[in-house]
Amino acid sequence: MIQTNHKIEFDSSRCIGCQICYKACFVDVIRWDEENKKPIFKYVEDCEHCNYCEVKCPKECIKVIPDYASQSFRQTFNRYSKYYKGV
Ligand code: SF4
Ligand code: SF4
Repeated sequence: MIQTNHKIEFDSSRCIGCQICYKACFVDVIRWDEENKKPIFKYVEDCEHCNYCEVKCPKECIKVIPDYASQSFRQTFNRYSKYYKGV
């Protein structure tokens, strides 16, 4: 498993329980708390930082903070290292 330190800040006090973020997330990082009518953020290390949840939230409750130093970014770029000429 790739270790990342991605973070998602969530201001629950402004959340209106519309479920847009829950429906937007394609990797199941955002689960739904039926009892409290709020999103739950699980396995945040798997977030693909598409920012869809943040952009679509009508109350600006969500802030996605990618870990740019994580192995996942290095791994992505390593795939293309044979083309890297050095700049
Ligand atoms: S940024 Fe994208 S992948 Fe990450 S939690 Fe939001 S919708 Fe899901
Ligand atoms: S999109 Fe925003 S307001 Fe709607 S449930 Fe998610 S966090 Fe709450």
